[in-house]
Amino acid sequence: ASLGGAESGIIVARFGQHAIVANDEQQNFRCNIRRGIESLVCGDEVVWRRFTGQSANTEQGVIEAVQPRRSLLSRPDYYDGVKPVASNIDQILIISSVLPAFSTQIIDRYLVACEDIDITPVIVLNKADLLTDIEPAQREEIEAALTMYKDIGYEVLSVSAKTNGGLTDIKTLLQNQVSIVVGQSGVGKSSLVNALLPDIDADVGDVSSNSGLGQHTTTVATRYPLPDGGFLIDSPGIREFALWHLDETRVAWCFIDFRPFLGQCKFRDCRHQPQDPGCALQQAVEAGDLHPLRLYNFHKIIESMASSKPSRAIPR
Ligand code: GDP
Ligand code: ZN
Repeated sequence: ASLGGAESGIIVARFGQHAIVANDEQQNFRCNIRRGIESLVCGDEVVWRRFTGQSANTEQGVIEAVQPRRSLLSRPDYYDGVKPVASNIDQILIISSVLPAFSTQIIDRYLVACEDIDITPVIVLNKADLLTDIEPAQREEIEAALTMYKDIGYEVLSVSAKTNGGLTDIKTLLQNQVSIVVGQSGVGKSSLVNALLPDIDADVGDVSSNSGLGQHTTTVATRYPLPDGGFLIDSPGIREFALWHLDETRVAWCFIDFRPFLGQCKFRDCRHQPQDPGCALQQAVEAGDLHPLRLYNFHKIIESMASSKPSRAIPR
């Protein structure tokens, strides 16, 4: 087969030496990846060429080059530290839920990861329909935490994938953006994605038949066009972000509400602990300018990082 002219496209999904490329009309093409392209992930903007004439195999084109990335999301990897998963993402929807138990500590871990890679996070409380089923004290705790995040300046949404409550708000937020959902198992990520992409099965079928892939595999990050514009990347593999490559100073900076106080502590190497004299963060908490829960979670994250950090890289 010979090659047509250079075209621009975006990686829908990558499978080893092949990838599905969407052209500007959102038609999907199964392409080979030219040797020498080191890293290629879902969301990458590429230059590719169509095969013209007879082609014995199922490939429809070849990817020749990758454009520079605006942003990159990675996951922890045993060998390499981090492994890239998806690129050119505008916002990350951090999904939490009423049940399994709502946890600000988990949300803060995701927030740190988002701030580190400079992608806008949105906090989404799913299963809002269950708020009436839980103890009033628990409900108040969740509501206080959501208020805390709003005060910090984060976008916060309450939704229910079950009753479709609040779904219009999410749809508005997703318009003309490239978004991805992350969160612990069981919070309702799949349910939300299905609610937002009602024809996801049809789309997947399209990708599969176009590409000769047969069965859709849910283990790779996949980029879907949204009905109202914008794209949603579904990546069931993304559960945890890598945090242990960050140092304590960086984690503190990723708590965006700490920023006005950082550098104000009496000692340069302040650990921001209650016993540390002249700690600007402790003082801010006492003055009511910083939420105590955030400082508490900061210390919990630092502690957990110390115990989860691999002692050395393991050679292949
Ligand atoms: P994932 O592991 O994050 O993908 O979560 P799933 O989408 O598989 O959902 C986990 C469970 O929560 C399933 O039993 C869903 O039916 C249920 N679930 C999802 N969203 C809602 C919701 O808004 N309200 C209620 N009550 N249950 C939900
Ligand atoms: Zn301090």
